[in-house]
Amino acid sequence: MAKAYLVGSGIAALSAAVFLIRDGGLDGRDIQLLEEQERIGGSLDAAGTAEAGYTMRGGRMFERQFRCTYDLLSSIPSLDDPSKSVTEEIFSDYESSAWNDTCRLVGADGNIIDTRSMGFSERDRLALAKCLATPEHRLDGKRISDCFGEGFFTTNFWFMWCTTFAFQPWHSAIEFRRYLNRFLHLFPTLDTMTGIYRTRYNQYDSIVRPLRTWLVDRGVIIRTGCRVTDMTFATGPGPTVEEILLTCGGTRERIPVRPDDLVMVTNGSMTANSSLGSDTAAPVPDASGPSGAWRLWQWLALGRDDFGSPHTFDRSVQDSTWESFTVTCEDPVFAELMEALSGREAGRGGLLSFPSSSWLLTVVLNRQPVYPDQPDGVTVWWGYGLHPHRTGDYVRKPMTECTGQEILREVLHHLHFEDASGRIAAASRVVPCLMPYITSQFLVRERGDRPQVVPKGSANLAFIGQFAELPDDVVFTVEYSVRTAWTAVAGLLGHGKQPPAVHQGHRDPRVLLHALETMHRR
Ligand SMILES: Cc1cc2nc3c(=O)[nH]c(=O)nc-3n(C[C@H](O)[C@H](O)[C@H](O)COP(=O)(O)OP(=O)(O)OC[C@H]3O[C@@H](n4cnc5c(N)ncnc54)[C@H](O)[C@@H]3O)c2cc1C
Repeated sequence: MAKAYLVGSGIAALSAAVFLIRDGGLDGRDIQLLEEQERIGGSLDAAGTAEAGYTMRGGRMFERQFRCTYDLLSSIPSLDDPSKSVTEEIFSDYESSAWNDTCRLVGADGNIIDTRSMGFSERDRLALAKCLATPEHRLDGKRISDCFGEGFFTTNFWFMWCTTFAFQPWHSAIEFRRYLNRFLHLFPTLDTMTGIYRTRYNQYDSIVRPLRTWLVDRGVIIRTGCRVTDMTFATGPGPTVEEILLTCGGTRERIPVRPDDLVMVTNGSMTANSSLGSDTAAPVPDASGPSGAWRLWQWLALGRDDFGSPHTFDRSVQDSTWESFTVTCEDPVFAELMEALSGREAGRGGLLSFPSSSWLLTVVLNRQPVYPDQPDGVTVWWGYGLHPHRTGDYVRKPMTECTGQEILREVLHHLHFEDASGRIAAASRVVPCLMPYITSQFLVRERGDRPQVVPKGSANLAFIGQFAELPDDVVFTVEYSVRTAWTAVAGLLGHGKQPPAVHQGHRDPRVLLHALETMHRR
């Protein structure tokens, strides 16, 4: 019987394991996940306690067309109510508590900006239409700023778009165009965010833990603290892995691989080398060198042109860094003030961004509790700054050099919550998180910079995750990682159960019409 070795334990590898069992008929006991971290889940992390302060690097937004993700999670029982699948849980939460944002952008004066209009000039609309109509290969090596005038980057549209998806003007025009096409159906609700789906809790508790339970119940072997360092290949026309080299708990190992076994590698990671700070300390940049995710890809790609170019994505940390922070507050006053400002109860308001803030801050007060063990009376909220290297407007330092409490002070000033700031600060623990590769997948690229999911002629190797090439779908999403996993399993096993087509809203005349109307709203 074939064995499968999955490098990584992020959502790409976890979903590959599910697809191998559910659709490929593999026995769970023949599947091994090799993860260098001590915890599984990759970027989908969440940890902490109310006393020490909760942490999460990110909070995910889904939408209706995450077809592969919902298919995957429809097979996984929710931990709270095993009679329901995780997908059913997400959908019923959407029915009962969807976002309806009335406070998407807040100005320097603390007033809500009217976002009914996208703020486009005729020139912006033409540039958008041109970008959408340009074939992808003509955008090779181009930045978003190569396609739009300066005014575009001051529109309501840009501020809502870039703070929702984390784009910067210097990011890839290819990816930006893919996003426009993929999420065109969300244009009319970009300000209200009513098209956004959420998990019940943070994604570690709502997705990773149920997946782990399902996999462990089926005998899947999950090995943490194991860094895969290299692979050897048989000589031949296409790649055939013969051996996996790894270091587990300081001990070197070699795993022999047969041509009919399967090897799936998560190459690169957006959360590699991320570091946490605290209430009283800024995050210390991780100087331990490249993580296994980047190092293995660099090593495998050496001297080959079919395994992509990791250097395209890992070489300019300055262009791919931002910082998030998680706040644990033991006083209801913050939530009450946010509810009063946004006119929405906690969990219904969506993102709130400050276009005038130097750090380009965004905050979100999700439905409580965000953690299953979160005590009553404790509120957890989350935020991020897309320009963490710039000097703050009130705290005159770069965000990267600020303690959690200093970040909180800056945010409270932008919210104009000064009257309650002492009370909120005294009741809050703020944990910042610096992420040097967080938008590495958005950096300017060309065709061939990402390896195909199943490289040409591959007998037993596939790449999965954010840095494997798939047509049409968009990175920085859980959906993309799940789709690569499904594509890898279908491609290597040849079992014919292909992933559903990527949603193509721009091919639907109604979607186009609504998007056009939105672009012209005044
Ligand atoms: C702040 C933030 C906000 C986000 N917002 C959204 C959102 O709103 N919506 C959305 O859909 N998505 C969002 N995402 C993106 C989503 O979380 C990721 O795309 C997805 O989790 C990536 O999963 P992955 O398995 O492909 O990779 P990763 O999560 O990076 O996991 C890769 C894993 O493989 C391990 N690994 C790699 N190489 C090796 C090796 N050689 N040896 C051993 N282990 C190895 C790594 O240690 C890591 O654990 C967000 C992410 C973050 C961080």
